[in-house]
Amino acid sequence: MSTQPTSTQDDRYMIWLDIDNTLYSASTQISAAMGEPYFLSLGFPEEEASELHHKYYTQYGLALRGLVRHHHIDALDFDRKCDGSLPLEQILKPDAKLHKLLEDIDRSKARVWALTNAYQTHARRVLRILGIEDQVEGVVFCDYSNPQFACKPEPEYFHNAMQKANFQDPSKCCFVDDSKTNIVAAKQLGWGRCVHFCERGLVAVEGGKPKEIGQDTASGPDEESIAVISDLEELRAIWSDLFRTS
Ligand SMILES: [Mg+2]
Repeated sequence: MSTQPTSTQDDRYMIWLDIDNTLYSASTQISAAMGEPYFLSLGFPEEEASELHHKYYTQYGLALRGLVRHHHIDALDFDRKCDGSLPLEQILKPDAKLHKLLEDIDRSKARVWALTNAYQTHARRVLRILGIEDQVEGVVFCDYSNPQFACKPEPEYFHNAMQKANFQDPSKCCFVDDSKTNIVAAKQLGWGRCVHFCERGLVAVEGGKPKEIGQDTASGPDEESIAVISDLEELRAIWSDLFRTS
């Protein structure tokens, strides 16, 4: 009896792209409008609203995570009133350079997924406006319909992401995110090629408070193995084996 190899094993890498403040610049200040009015609408005095917003963002990586956990907020209502009400069409526009960058990824060597703490409505809307929907195989988002949803940087989120994309090998995960906390968390789970997108020096609002980018405090045991870029074009060099050469 012959034992012909029947392996159809997919040994490609997986490129995971964070969306907000990574696929577009934090200079758009889109995140500045996220969340704060909702905290105020819950009846907190201004100072407390701002404090809680920042506290939950810092503690959980997503302010909404704290609202759901401690105030039993309906995450879908939050999404409609916050992310859903952002005038993204007036702020973002199709990005031909980004489209070309993604197009130049050799798909026989790497798959491409987006990975976000937002809900799918916001995620898909951003990808559509940027004009790169056709370059992304799938989107891992926070399932706001489940009150127990996981978000980055929780390990469960990254495990779920791999499961959803039917991807097994963490060492072949290539991940770019503007949050150093998320990058460090992924690295600690064994994600092999993590890149911190860092628009150093730019002042952006995170968790409701202005902050100079590049002052992140999160750190990990193998920080020197985390590449830092300020322009996504640099991925061509960092992941050079995954891009088409001609
Ligand atoms: Mg981000």
